[in-house]
Amino acid sequence: MLLRHTTSEVKEREGLTINPAKTCQPIGAMYAALGIHGCLPHSHGSQGCCSYHRSTLTRHYKEPVMAGTSSFTEGASVFGGQANLLQAIETIFSVYDPDIIAVHSTCLSETIGDDLQQITKKAKDDGKIPEGKYVIYASTPSFIGSHITGYANMVAGMAEQFTVSTGEKKDQVNIVAGWMEPSDMREIKRVAKELGVKIVLFPDTSDVLDAPQTGKHEFYPKGGVTIDELKSTGDSKSTLALGYVSAEPAAIALDKKCKVPFETIEMPIGLSATDRFIVALSKAGQVSVPAEITAERGRLVDVMADMEQYLYGKKVALFGDPDHLVPLTEFLLDLNMKPVHIISGTPGMKFEKRMQEILERAPYANFKNGLNADMFLLHQWIKNEPVDLLIGNTYGKYIARDEDIPFVRYGFPILDRVGHSYFPSVGYTGGLRLLEKILTALLDRQDRDALEEKFELVM
Ligand code: SF4
Repeated sequence: MLLRHTTSEVKEREGLTINPAKTCQPIGAMYAALGIHGCLPHSHGSQGCCSYHRSTLTRHYKEPVMAGTSSFTEGASVFGGQANLLQAIETIFSVYDPDIIAVHSTCLSETIGDDLQQITKKAKDDGKIPEGKYVIYASTPSFIGSHITGYANMVAGMAEQFTVSTGEKKDQVNIVAGWMEPSDMREIKRVAKELGVKIVLFPDTSDVLDAPQTGKHEFYPKGGVTIDELKSTGDSKSTLALGYVSAEPAAIALDKKCKVPFETIEMPIGLSATDRFIVALSKAGQVSVPAEITAERGRLVDVMADMEQYLYGKKVALFGDPDHLVPLTEFLLDLNMKPVHIISGTPGMKFEKRMQEILERAPYANFKNGLNADMFLLHQWIKNEPVDLLIGNTYGKYIARDEDIPFVRYGFPILDRVGHSYFPSVGYTGGLRLLEKILTALLDRQDRDALEEKFELVM
């Protein structure tokens, strides 16, 4: 009983979060920055923050994650970190030679009031940014929001600070990736290619955080959206933002700056959300849906129908990030399962609204997001109404163990399994993988608990 102190009695709390269902803003900013080719993320704060962010990403991706830090000491903490950041920019370009440095702030530098826009401008004016190189920035105070907010802020920073409109439209569609795995980004590109739509996907961490073993270390792996591609997004026909929380702010910034019209849809997780994605992308690219994509859909629908008896009415608790939870909940409903408890530590009005719309199909569900929507509350809800399945990141394993619930790992971070970087969860193919994981967890449990006379070879 690892969580033996969790009581079943739920009390109203305001000033206390216990085991948050989120992590801190700069982790998201660092992850997004790694999706630009030749980019070195830089953490403007203390070394401890940077180590934590790097190690969380490294543990999730099982890949070395490089980042610089302004290494605040007592002096910078009192008088501000401008001198540290200017020095860091100079040193990083001369020693590590990135194409671009993506600076994000931390709680400490935000509390002091360091102005990253002013400091990076000074770096440029002082000649510390070599010709053809770039420094972008995002404000990521971790005392508000979550890793998702930080991701959204950095991706919006890319759009605000990079895009240019030459006045000549290109036959391409921008896709702003919400927070998803490198495998998912690779899958989005594959599907777009299958449809015959030229896209610019940003950020793009495929071939960065799932890079193959080649026997030699590459400081800047071959993946990532290039600076030229990023700049060209200002000339694209339109933008598709995949996620209201993590992707839409970048699409809005792009529209404001370069008048690129955008549409926001959910990340294509599960059947219905993938249907919307395929329709939106085929419309944006003015193409019809090829037979192969229709066949992929058909395979997913076939397994859904074949295995319905094992899914029907099963109660599920899930926690994680907004742009995952909305389509995932919808997918569970499409599978005739019952999402009964849903928690996210990330705040957001649009998220709440979309979730309420989806939950019209599940009026019995408990849903809470924001500061007090924590793992403790989720555990209490489960104690009061037990579930057949738990879906969420690695931190859910404590609840799963204590309550003896089948557990499917999904989301960020996953620190104790592999696979998420390599096998997509988006699109019809990704939906099939998700469904397989759900079914395996449920059927393993059925096998485990079956009486000898009911133990079946064929299920
Ligand atoms: S919450 Fe703030 S202080 Fe803590 S690691 Fe994140 S940025 Fe640093």
